[in-house]
This record gives sequence, C-alpha cells and structure tokens, in this order.
Amino acid sequence: MNYFEADLHSLVSETEKCKKELEAIKKEGLSLDLSRGKPSDEQLSLSLPMLDVLDRKSILDSENGLDCRNYGGSDGIPEARRLLAHMMGTHVVHTIVGGNSSLTLMYQLVSHGMTDGICGGTPWQEIKRRKFLCPVPGYDRHFAITEHFGFELISVPMNDDGPDMDKVEELVKDPDVKGIWCVPKYQNPTGIVYSDEVVRRFARLKPASEDFRIFWDNAYCMHCFSGDCTEIPDIIEECEKYGNADFVYEFCSTSKVTFPGSGISAVAASPANLIDIHSFMDFATIGPDKLNQLRHARFFKGSAGLKNQMEKHAAILKPKFDAVYETLETELGKTGIADWTTPKGGYFLSFDTLPGCAKNVVNMCAEYGVKFTPAGSTYPHGYDPEDKNIRLAPSFATTEEIKKAILVLCLCTKLKSIEKIMKERS
Ligand code: PLP
Repeated sequence: MNYFEADLHSLVSETEKCKKELEAIKKEGLSLDLSRGKPSDEQLSLSLPMLDVLDRKSILDSENGLDCRNYGGSDGIPEARRLLAHMMGTHVVHTIVGGNSSLTLMYQLVSHGMTDGICGGTPWQEIKRRKFLCPVPGYDRHFAITEHFGFELISVPMNDDGPDMDKVEELVKDPDVKGIWCVPKYQNPTGIVYSDEVVRRFARLKPASEDFRIFWDNAYCMHCFSGDCTEIPDIIEECEKYGNADFVYEFCSTSKVTFPGSGISAVAASPANLIDIHSFMDFATIGPDKLNQLRHARFFKGSAGLKNQMEKHAAILKPKFDAVYETLETELGKTGIADWTTPKGGYFLSFDTLPGCAKNVVNMCAEYGVKFTPAGSTYPHGYDPEDKNIRLAPSFATTEEIKKAILVLCLCTKLKSIEKIMKERS
C-alpha cells in the first residue's frame, strides 16, 4: 500500500497493526546494536591463525634483512608495503605502511597541514576561513577530524556514482577550500562505488589552492560481496597523468580484513608528498610495529591470500545484507515512505525516511531495544538538515537479529510516517 494514496481508514488500521506487532516484539526484551560497523565474532575468527604465524623460533627479519624486533624501517617492511599497495591497486614506491589505524594517519596529515603547512605551504591554522568538503551522507569520524581543527565543513551531495562533481569543481575555486573527504569504494554509509568518470574528474580538478588535498580513504577497497569486485582507476596514477601528482593521499588498512585496532595501515602518495610526510612522521615515531606488519605479510603471502580472506568475509556478510534488503523490501517496498541503498560491498547501507522523521524513528527503535547510529551523524556537525538519513550497519549482529532489528526499524518508520502524513492532511 502506498501511504500517500491510502485513505484515512487504511492508515488508522495500519497504525493499529504496527503497534500490535511492536508490542509483541517488546515482550521479547530485545537488545540489539546495529550502530557501528564492526566485524562479527565469526569474521574475527578468520584471522586467528595469524596469531600463530610468528613465535620465538621464527626468523624475524623482513625481506630486506631488517630485524623486525628493533627500531627502524619508517616506511614499513617491503612485504607489508607490497601487500597494502596492491590492496589499494597502486604501486609500492608510493606506499608507506604505518601503525594500526588509517584514521590516525588522516588525523596526522590534517594536523600537519594545520601546524607546518602542506609541502611548505601556509599552515592552515593561519587561514581564518579554512574549509573542507564533505560528501553527504558520509563518515562521521572524517567530519569530526576537520571539525576538531576548526574547518568550516561544506556538504556536497552524493549521487549514485560519487560526489556531485559539478559542485566539487565549483567549490574548489575558493582558495580557502583545503581538501575533501572521499571513500571511493563502498562508501560509508551509502555503499556507493565512484564511477571511472568521477575518479577522473577528481584527478583533473583545478583547485585554486596549491595545498588542496583529496583524502582518498579506500577503507573498503577489497570488500565486495561476490567474486567480481568492481575495480576503479588508481587515483594516484590518474592524478599523475593529469599533472596533479601531489593532489591526493590514499589510505587503507586491514581493520576490516584482520582485527580492527590491531591491523596495519597505509598511506600512498606522490614522491613529494611522501617526503613531506616524513618531515613530521619522523618526529612522531622511531618506526612502526614491524612485527605486526611481518605477521600480516606472512599470513596472507601476497594478494591472492588477501583475496581468499576477503571471499570468506563476503560469505559471512552477504547473507546479512540480503536479509536487510529483503526485510526492507517486504515491509516498505510499496509504501513510498522510505528509500535505501543496496550496496554490493562494504559495511553499511543508507536508509532515508520522509524528511523530519529520522531522529524520531531512531529514538523509537531504541525504546524497543534496537540501537542504530544516531540520526544526523552522517552529516557535518551531526546535523542532517532534512532529518531523514539513518546509517545501517548489519555486520556485527546475526542474520536472525538483523531481521528483527530491521523489522523494528520498518514498523517505527511506518508509524512516524503515518503521523506525519496525517498531520499534513489535517
Ligand atoms: N575509514 C572509513 C571509511 C571507515 O569506515 C573506518 C571504520 O569504520 C575507518 C576509516 C577506520 O579505519 P582504521 O581502523 O584503519 O583507523
């Protein structure tokens, strides 16, 4: 039933039906959390054998003879650099492997821009009206970094093939715009993959500011649900082609491959940027955790091992996402009151209620024991001007729990939408 075409009587009886279903669910005393994109226990178990890769009898030298037990190797060991470079689809020479978190690398780079300036540029803290572009909906922790450093956050709408590039091309003409957050594959939270054309338009950008940087967070570069993963062009190579080699920092990590918080991370960039990165990184550390790098490199034994691991993750994740899509379609498919993405990879999907309903829906779900990411958090400053976007993160719960949680979401969406429709009619 399309709720906008339904008569008053049908909407009232639909309300009664939803309330009854919710009351029955309340008696079950649910306590479910679909708020953060964490791997499930089953996924974490896939990497347990990695903990047995090294022991006291192992040869603990890297390929180039570096003793991984000791300080040094600030670029990371060769076998880990190769692993993560190939994971991102770029070259080893561009790639530095760091510690456990790619988000830390992003934070350090923005911090470097603020205090030292990028590649000898004016420190961003001296730019009073510094701005950063934020494709929306997007990743709350990205936005939080630039909010922390006092940037004005400028929202850019996401299309089905990536950020609205007409807008981006226009906005970068402002010299106070210093960067943009991008998640090019299975974006957090829409699951959208950037088209080749969007990637190339990024590489061809003509920003007014020389120290403008694209923060290309390829966190989900290998995270497709089926064998034929979508490939996108290598942004580093594309930028080089257009004479814009220094435009971009690319990031990835094994947080959603092995253990979040105990993985390895990488940044890839042009030679000039890598020199610039060393100019601050070498003060911050005498070297990364090379034993963890060695453990990862020996566990995967190269790209084929990584691909094999990602197929095992996919086999666990796909049924969970399918359960979400099925429940949403069954409950809301013909109602006209909600919209959602159906990604083929990653950790998230994006759900839109009618404008003005998302906060109420999330709060109501919490009353029935189901926690979703707070409405608004996919927007800069946690404020969604239309109050309609909710990020769904189905990875951690079981398929049965997901079906229940999404059913609660659908019932609460129905009730809040009917309230809105009736109010507008009266
Ligand atoms: N980037 C994106 C887009 C993410 O979704 C996440 C985690 O959810 C991260 C980065 C965090 O990465 P890391 O654990 O390497 O800091």
